[in-house]
Amino acid sequence: MGTDIWGKIQTKLNQEFGQDAYTNWIKPLTLVSTDARVAVLQAPTAFIGNWVARNYGDRIVALFAGEGLAVDRLEFKTGAINRTVAENNATPVVTKTQIPSISRNKTGLPGAKLDSRCTFETFVVGKPNELAHAAARRVAEGGPVSFNPLFLYGGVGLGKTHLMHAIAWEIQERNPEAKVLYLSAEQFMYKFVQALRFKDTISFKEMFRSVDVLMVDDVQFIAGKDSTQDEFFHTFNALIDQNKQIILSADRAPGEIEGLEERIKSRLQWGLCVDLHPTDYELRLGILQSKAEQQAVLNPNVEIADGVLEFVAHRVSSNVRVLEGALIRLFAFGSLVGRQVTLDMATECLADILRASDKKVTVDEIIRKVTDHYNIRMTDMLSPRRARSVARPRQMAMYLAKKLTSKSLPEIGRRFGGRDHTTVIHAVKKIEELRSVDNQIAEDLELLRRMLEA
Ligand code: ADP
Ligand code: MG
Repeated sequence: MGTDIWGKIQTKLNQEFGQDAYTNWIKPLTLVSTDARVAVLQAPTAFIGNWVARNYGDRIVALFAGEGLAVDRLEFKTGAINRTVAENNATPVVTKTQIPSISRNKTGLPGAKLDSRCTFETFVVGKPNELAHAAARRVAEGGPVSFNPLFLYGGVGLGKTHLMHAIAWEIQERNPEAKVLYLSAEQFMYKFVQALRFKDTISFKEMFRSVDVLMVDDVQFIAGKDSTQDEFFHTFNALIDQNKQIILSADRAPGEIEGLEERIKSRLQWGLCVDLHPTDYELRLGILQSKAEQQAVLNPNVEIADGVLEFVAHRVSSNVRVLEGALIRLFAFGSLVGRQVTLDMATECLADILRASDKKVTVDEIIRKVTDHYNIRMTDMLSPRRARSVARPRQMAMYLAKKLTSKSLPEIGRRFGGRDHTTVIHAVKKIEELRSVDNQIAEDLELLRRMLEA
């Protein structure tokens, strides 16, 4: 039974973090046991175990809950897998890794522990996340205009959970009496299923309805689970009626969550929905610089050469978790080799991450999707024609090529029927201008981007 659950969790992790992350980190793990709320996983090396604990630990714990298994903590065992009897006497090295666990916080409410690293201070603000950040701050500060519920959405690794934790810390700092409950949708579901099983739904209801602030992360997981959704909706209404703050997150807009009931969707419209956009180069560089400063304190003798962070910001995809992973690896590498981490070394050490980021979206794919979307011909897209009906889509495609691929301006120009790089610059500027004033264009871009990155 255990392997079955682990197989399911592995599949989910594969979908969430991509094939490379899966092959490198998740696939090599086997589930040994799940007793006493501890899941023991066998990892080929301690490094892999630690890496998984740090980067995927929370998620794995949550996924166990989603499968109905009470797991608070992961433990990584390294050393020989007992393949043959002869190898059996090898004592496995046990690396205990403390994972933020589902536990009682100081309000006595069962929620997930808050990550002390995820505060507003450590959140780097840029164009793609400034609205979400401003809304989160406003809610945390509890001003006269409050957004209730606040719904944060965006792709994996763009900072939704970070912002939610930051709000929780801030609220608790301003008002230590406030009962703030943060949990993942899976934990919510798990609690509910447990309450049903032990016929204890009344205390379940009371518990949830006594909070001042309820935060449920990744609510897309509730969609389609009818009874949980029902209970969620009632809790949600009860809290809103009492003017209690609700903050939710999901990986996409409420309207796009399949299986989410209409009544929940329409209730969400009463509050504020804000989108965390994929990071752009400036934000990525800002995040890398800020995290590099933190890493530098931990690794005082590691030196990263000029231009390396810029290179990573340019080449690594928009997921901040991947970006963080890349940086941690650079520092780990630097401390091993004991000399400056050069651009060449970085390229080699991050080869898999760079490859994964690169193959994401190609210029050809962008051109194809855009021509499809606007129903124009490929030959028109690449021709010198300047009629608005083809010029605008062409500019959008160039803009997307600049934003979503790591191709240089001249390279992009060449792919569009041998145009000059200044044409590409012009297109990017034009679309940037238009997207803030023209809703249709903003929507089209959003849609195309999502299709391309799907
Ligand atoms: P999500 O919940 O959207 O999948 P997370 O909030 O878990 O993403 O973010 C992934 C990682 O990236 C976390 O370690 C988080 O601290 C970090 N992160 C995301 N956005 C930022 C940001 N703007 N500034 C600093 N760190 C960030
Ligand atoms: Mg999250």
